[in-house]
Amino acid sequence: MDEGCFAHPAKAKASNCFDCMRPICVVCLKLHGSHDYCPECSATIGRKVLRRRVVLGVLAASVCLTLVLGYALYGNPFRYGAETFAVLDLAAEVKKEPCDRAKVLALAETYLRVMAPRECLALTDQYLAACGDWPRLRWPRFTAPAL
Ligand SMILES: [Zn+2]
Ligand SMILES: [Zn+2]
Repeated sequence: MDEGCFAHPAKAKASNCFDCMRPICVVCLKLHGSHDYCPECSATIGRKVLRRRVVLGVLAASVCLTLVLGYALYGNPFRYGAETFAVLDLAAEVKKEPCDRAKVLALAETYLRVMAPRECLALTDQYLAACGDWPRLRWPRFTAPAL
């Protein structure tokens, strides 16, 4: 004779729980996707799904918040493509030490690489005006495409 449901021994087994393999009757059977589960495992799955949704929701919200904040602080965060963070980091460094030649040059070259000649010219103008002449900084100006 077939075994009965683990919770209702009098009822015939309809399936086995996909997780704990216990026999379950039609009353106990819960369907998740294409698998049968007992009520206990079904509750666990429900909690897992819920937790995953909460985690995803929090992640999505924080990504959006970062983008909104970034947008507010720096303008369009996508304008420098993959180098956005390199550009923003360097720009912040240069803001702190506007006459640090290595940083200014690195930023100018990065601007050129990401096709931002306007920013490159503004940066070199600002350096030349504030920190005196530096011939090395004049070359990116020649390679900058015409505005
Ligand atoms: Zn189970
Ligand atoms: Zn049952």
